[in-house]
Amino acid sequence: MNTEYKGLGKGKLCYGQQISQQEREEIENSHRKMINEIFKDWSDLHQKQNNINNIYNDKKEIKEFKKLKKMPYEEYLKSQHWINTRNKALVRAKYKCQLCGEKEKALHVHHNTYENKGNEKDEDLIVLCEDCHARYHNKISQSSKLKENKRIAEELRELGIDDADNTFLKV
Ligand SMILES: [Zn+2]
Ligand SMILES: [Zn+2]
Repeated sequence: MNTEYKGLGKGKLCYGQQISQQEREEIENSHRKMINEIFKDWSDLHQKQNNINNIYNDKKEIKEFKKLKKMPYEEYLKSQHWINTRNKALVRAKYKCQLCGEKEKALHVHHNTYENKGNEKDEDLIVLCEDCHARYHNKISQSSKLKENKRIAEELRELGIDDADNTFLKV
């Protein structure tokens, strides 16, 4: 038998054999099926590789997130993550103070919560002008001071010690 490859010519098999039209179609169909199977295997493999990559990326992200969360705040403020997150917050706020609308003063991006430090949600941040930011922090420290003093006053009362001059109720 002639084994020289001649392709799927008219009425010929790969190795030069004479074949009928029907045989040729059968061979072509089986080739097509084979190619489809190979393609399916290949795309399954590709899918698996993608899944592995996703898992790897997730792990990398979690590792990165943990690293950022543990980072001292001063260092964190210099991280590329914070620079990007801060810029996105400024764009969202259209470069205006979200309390008073001020545009000209220095804008600060304030954390409402540090819960998600390293992976902040939009609502975790607020853009404030330097004045509103200072007022905000002042208010917070005043109210936490008041709360703390009330707690101490209550404790003294429970202990039967009279906070006669209301030292701990003064802010
Ligand atoms: Zn702040
Ligand atoms: Zn403001």
